[in-house]
Amino acid sequence: MTSHATAGSAGGSSPVEPVEDARADAPLARLVDADWLLPTGAAGLLGFTAKFESAVSALQEALTRAHPTGTPGPSFLAPVVPLSHIERAEYAEAFPHLLASVHALPPGTGGSGGSRVLGADVRVPTDAVLAPAACYSLYPALADRTLDAPRHFDVAGSCYRHEETSEVGRFRSFRMREFVAVGTEDTALAWREDWMERCRAFFADLGLAVRVEAASDPFFGPGARFMRSSQLQQSLKYEFVAQVSDSDAGTAIASVNLHKDHLGLRFAIGAPGGGPAHSSCAAFGLERIVLALVHQHGDTPADWPGTAAIRTGLDTVHS
Ligand code: AMP
Ligand code: ZN
Repeated sequence: MTSHATAGSAGGSSPVEPVEDARADAPLARLVDADWLLPTGAAGLLGFTAKFESAVSALQEALTRAHPTGTPGPSFLAPVVPLSHIERAEYAEAFPHLLASVHALPPGTGGSGGSRVLGADVRVPTDAVLAPAACYSLYPALADRTLDAPRHFDVAGSCYRHEETSEVGRFRSFRMREFVAVGTEDTALAWREDWMERCRAFFADLGLAVRVEAASDPFFGPGARFMRSSQLQQSLKYEFVAQVSDSDAGTAIASVNLHKDHLGLRFAIGAPGGGPAHSSCAAFGLERIVLALVHQHGDTPADWPGTAAIRTGLDTVHS
C-alpha cells in the first residue's frame, strides 16, 4: 500500500466543505460540457456520465487482459471498512488528514427536526471508516496465520481521501484497481518488477505519454520523516505520471509499491517457509487514467489509439 493508507479526518473537524463552482474552474467546466463529468457543487465530489463509465469499463477490461497469469476480473471490495483494520495497518498514523469516518445519528433523532439535529451535530462515530485504498481489506483476511503459498489478488473498490485541494483529477471519492501479491520477499519483489514493466507497456499501448517517478509515501507510520528518505533510497514506490488537464504539471495515474514486511508484521501474516510475509501492489486510478486519455486523445473515444482489445470496448462508446 502506499498512500494506500489514509482515510479522512476521523471526526472532529468542520463538516463544512468548500463549495465548488464548476463554471469558475475551466478544466472542470470543459469536461462537464463535453459530457464526461457531472458536478455536485461540492469540491472533489463528481458524478460520471455514461460516456465516462463506458471508458472505465473498457479500461477495466484492458487491465484484466494485462494480468500476467490471467484473472476473471476484479473482486469488488466494500467502500467502507472496519476502523480496526485501518488502525492495525497504522494508516491513521501516516495519513490522518486523509482518513474519513462514518458517523450515524442516535435513535430518535430523525423526523421533522432532522436538519436541526444535524446542525447541532449529535452525530456519533461508528466502527467504520471510508476505505482509503482498495487493498486494505485484503490483509485482515490473511491475518494471524502462515501462508501455505504466495497469494495474488485482483481487486477494485471505491476509495475516499479527504484531499485538501480539488483540481481536476484530485477527487475525494474515486475508484482504484489493484493487483496485489503477498508471500515471500522474492514474491513481492518479482511482482513489483513485473508490474513496473507491465505498466510501461500498458500505458504505451494506450498511447499515453507517462513519466515514471520515484515517490515517497510514508505508509510506515511514526518516524515518517526518516522513513520518507529511506523509502526514496529504497525506491519502494514508483508513480506513473501523466497530464490530465491543460493546467496540470503531471498527476499520478498509477503507482507500483513495495511494502516490504510492513503489512505482514502489522497483520501477523507469515510467509511460506517462515518469516513475516512481504507484499507489493500495482494500483491504478481509474478516473485519472480516463482523464489522461481524454486529455491526450480528445473527446471521441472511437478515435483513441490503443490495443485492438481496448478499441473494441471503446468503439461502442458514443462520441
Ligand atoms: P496511491 O495509493 O496514492 O499510490 O494511489 C493509487 C492511485 O490512485 C494513484 O496513482 C491515483 O491514480 C489514484 N488516486 C490517488 N488519489 C486520488 C485522488 N484524490 N483522486 C483520484 N485518484 C486518486
Ligand atoms: Zn495497495
